[in-house]
Amino acid sequence: MLKDYYAILNVAQDATVAEIKQQYQKLLLIHHPDKQQQQQQQQSQTLPVSVTSIPLQDIKEAWECLRQPTQRSFYDSSLKAMKLRANGQVNDDIDLDDMEYDEDSSTYSSPCRCSGEYIISEGELELGVDTVVCSTCSLIVRIHYELADDEDNEEN
Ligand SMILES: [Zn+2]
Repeated sequence: MLKDYYAILNVAQDATVAEIKQQYQKLLLIHHPDKQQQQQQQQSQTLPVSVTSIPLQDIKEAWECLRQPTQRSFYDSSLKAMKLRANGQVNDDIDLDDMEYDEDSSTYSSPCRCSGEYIISEGELELGVDTVVCSTCSLIVRIHYELADDEDNEEN
């Protein structure tokens, strides 16, 4: 299950890196061990639950991911797919075998009913991603595949 880093850092999904960094540093201060001791004494009256309940580890993890554009865009698409799936909006199921493989980019693709495409990379598959949003419209498909651990069965 993917963590919602935007919710953890309490920033908008389209926040700039600078905005995210500012918020990250603010949260670090709040979670600083010295501060936390003071807070524990008065937290019942002063601190909102949402601030105290987030582990520092999650905050750091969120920042490490969102600060890097490539990782962030990959994370964004995974998060979007996860949310759509949670809402039961998966539109179709595809078998990985039915998808077109492109060796140059190591991606699998399948046409959508609009003129867009569903594209998933081998890297994403290895990470366990199995839902893809169309490159053009908002339809989403779930991809069925089995991890290739039975290569010995291939003919020689
Ligand atoms: Zn589409």
